Amino acid sequence: MDRKQFVQSLALISIGGIAMKLKELKKWVSPLKNTSKMPVLFLGHGSPMNAIEENEFVASFRKLGQSIQRPNAILCISAHWETRGTYVTAMENPRTIHDFGGFPKELFEIQYKAPGSPELARETQAVITTAEVELDHHWGLDHGAWSVIKHLYPQADIPVIQMSLDRGKSPQYHYELAKELSVLRQKGVLIIGSGNIVHNLRMIAWDKMKVDNYGFDWAIEANERMKSYLTDGNHQALIDYNTQGKPFQLSIPTPEHYLPLLYTIALKEEKESLHVFNDKLLAGSIAMTSVQLG
Ligand code: ZN
Repeated sequence: MDRKQFVQSLALISIGGIAMKLKELKKWVSPLKNTSKMPVLFLGHGSPMNAIEENEFVASFRKLGQSIQRPNAILCISAHWETRGTYVTAMENPRTIHDFGGFPKELFEIQYKAPGSPELARETQAVITTAEVELDHHWGLDHGAWSVIKHLYPQADIPVIQMSLDRGKSPQYHYELAKELSVLRQKGVLIIGSGNIVHNLRMIAWDKMKVDNYGFDWAIEANERMKSYLTDGNHQALIDYNTQGKPFQLSIPTPEHYLPLLYTIALKEEKESLHVFNDKLLAGSIAMTSVQLG
């Protein structure tokens, strides 16, 4: 083979490679049926005890599960799953992860046996093009997911997958990535961000646990400003939370409980309704504030 032939054969190999990729892409047929557009949620999960306690917050979650269109599957972005890179759970039967300590035995005994959805995991992988999404077979459902989803769907009969938060990426990156999930809303997928927009465990006022709607001044201010950014559609201010001064810094000492909010609002379409609920502060430094789009 002379040089010319060699170069030609290389070209053929790479054309062959591209043709193969196109064929693979074409072969991907979504197994999820088209539906009308699903709402998108951000749920303030608070203490893991909400999984077993009866209170106004879980009552709202229950009501929400009954009032919205029944999903084909759920995709949850939880504060409690941070990774390097982006993963989606792809197992048939995700385990219930008890990722906390110092709580009563009753809480550790909870099993939320919703099936997984390898199909939705693959579909999520296919719709995200700006990041390499990998399939995960080890995680399961952490309490950021199951402690709230169990109130929406107590029968555990709707498949749930989780998508991880790529640690170290910018808020803008997460916001843009989330936008790519938009097509799933028309496949009956309920997308849920689970975290807390004000979440400072170091500053918790343990003696004020039982006081209704008790928040420190900075927590009240941050919660109010976040809500006005939400209703004004000022997403950039929410993305740039790091430049919003002391109340935001104290409310978001680490990003993982806040970022799921960006996944939710990134999916907001023009003129789509936005409803804030569970708008209360707890023990000074936690906001249960939750959001429903659509
Ligand atoms: Zn949490």
